[in-house]
Amino acid sequence: SHPRPPAESLAPHDVFIAVKTTKKFHRARLDLLLETWISRHKEMTFIFTDGEDEALARRTGNVVNTNCSAAHSRQALSCKMAVEYDRFIESGRKWFCHVDDDNYVNVRALLRLLASYPHTQDVYLGKPSLDRPIQATERVSENKVRPVHFWFATGGAGFCISRGLALKMSPWASGGHFMSTAERIRLPDDCTIGYIVEALLGVPLVRSGLFHSHLENLQQVPTSELHEQVTLSYGMFESKRNAVHIKGPFSVEADPSRFRSIHCHLYPDTPWCPRTATF
Ligand code: UDP
Ligand code: MN
Repeated sequence: SHPRPPAESLAPHDVFIAVKTTKKFHRARLDLLLETWISRHKEMTFIFTDGEDEALARRTGNVVNTNCSAAHSRQALSCKMAVEYDRFIESGRKWFCHVDDDNYVNVRALLRLLASYPHTQDVYLGKPSLDRPIQATERVSENKVRPVHFWFATGGAGFCISRGLALKMSPWASGGHFMSTAERIRLPDDCTIGYIVEALLGVPLVRSGLFHSHLENLQQVPTSELHEQVTLSYGMFESKRNAVHIKGPFSVEADPSRFRSIHCHLYPDTPWCPRTATF
């Protein structure tokens, strides 16, 4: 994957990064992101959650309480995606990126990648989680369904959409429409995005190997190529703990997600990163 030459210059303020979270993960997951990648990119990052948290609001101004249910239901997750979409449209920014609260975003690599595409064109960037298009059933009327198949970018690896494309998605994504579109195919939020983009608008997903979820073996990401990766993650894969393999400077016990070690690798001037580390 050779980096394409920049098509346009891109400033951090041109990108809207939506982080999906839920109240029970504010301490368990979000604090780690605020200490690591978000700390460097507060102006780009918006946190979409489902419960008030004063401690969180004190740390960043960009917290959006979606008033969506805190359940892990399809409806609750679609509700959050709908609010993310609407806030992005309001923001006037060039790119919408969605990540989960177990993603590390390497913003310099993200800006490099996005700068190689024109934001006014139709661009849907991410990594498919399946090796073939998803087969779904689309409800077309009260008592009529039909099969539909399309690719979608897995939400757990993060994905990005250009403003040009996001505007075209509006009839199916804005206001209350996203939730009714999700109900039409009865699939999760990230699949619904793929449905709108690929099946309804006919815009193909652009695959990038630079996005990573914990549904792949993260040990396979080479340390020497961390600078190029756009997103990373941690969690479970095939019922085993899954995280990026990086030697230091923090032990696996002190830094099980490896996000602190990754952050020190990418931003060695961070005050809490050991200066003497040789990694
Ligand atoms: N999540 C949420 N509400 C819930 C549970 C999870 O908004 O009730 C969010 C969570 O914060 C994360 C994403 O959904 O951003 C995926 O959750 P998780 O990583 O726990 O699940 P998995 O990756 O296994 O789908
Ligand atoms: Mn996850």
